Amino acid sequence: MPMIQAKNLWKTYGNTVVLERMNLSVNAGEFITMVGTSGCGKSTFLKMLLGMESPSSGQLLLDGQAIPNEPDQARGIVFQQYSVFPHLTVLQNVIIAREFEHSPLLGTLFGTKKRAVIDEAKSLLASVGLSHALDRYPHELSGGMKQRLAIAQALIRQPRILLLDEPFGALDPGIRADMHQLILKLWQEHKLTVFMVTHDLSEGFYLGTRLWVFDKLRHDPQAPGAYGANITYDLPVGKRAAQIPDDIQARVQAATE
Ligand code: ADP
Repeated sequence: MPMIQAKNLWKTYGNTVVLERMNLSVNAGEFITMVGTSGCGKSTFLKMLLGMESPSSGQLLLDGQAIPNEPDQARGIVFQQYSVFPHLTVLQNVIIAREFEHSPLLGTLFGTKKRAVIDEAKSLLASVGLSHALDRYPHELSGGMKQRLAIAQALIRQPRILLLDEPFGALDPGIRADMHQLILKLWQEHKLTVFMVTHDLSEGFYLGTRLWVFDKLRHDPQAPGAYGANITYDLPVGKRAAQIPDDIQARVQAATE
């Protein structure tokens, strides 16, 4: 059974149709990259996968069941805006992400359980390259380091699905290249299924196993909200990117500008 399926999925806000007639199927382990013009519904789709938003009609299924109406441990998310707690150290930021899950009201763990979580957090921080910064506060970190921390926060809950909303959009190109290697490593080590929104087409081609282009097939100039976007291209990418014909690449580029 596919891990994620959409069946005639629609999302509307009031009279505005954001996404329409989406039908798709994603297997565990895929790395989906998503591009498209700003405002065409990519983040909305991620929010539905997370459970922050629900479908207006149709179905969005995880393992054949409707996605729960609230975020849970199966899905972790990293946003472009740094979402770390400013008053906590790097290590504390990761531990608290885990504590919330174990003890949502008290936010506190004790004894051996606490030690196990600390060890787990340290090992995760090592794997994202932050071992040397455990006791630093977020204002002492670079943008790239903050995103490494945000990724560790998302992964400490051992999600099966990682949702990335332009996580590297604010980073310098050199730093972004390091983050690409990191995310590919984590995708494999943690056996994740990844959905990543990017505005950078080459990033989408390079990182994904599959690239989705979101676009509107129907337009009404008199009523811009009358129709929603759908996936207009669904392309195998990644290692095969070199074989994608130039004309397809040019058409994808045109659809996202
Ligand atoms: P993208 O991520 O592709 O830039 P979004 O998913 O953020 O696009 O937004 C898609 C459309 O949905 C936009 O027109 C946006 O204004 C609208 N939208 C998103 N969230 C809401 C909301 N909570 N209420 C009303 N409209 C919304």
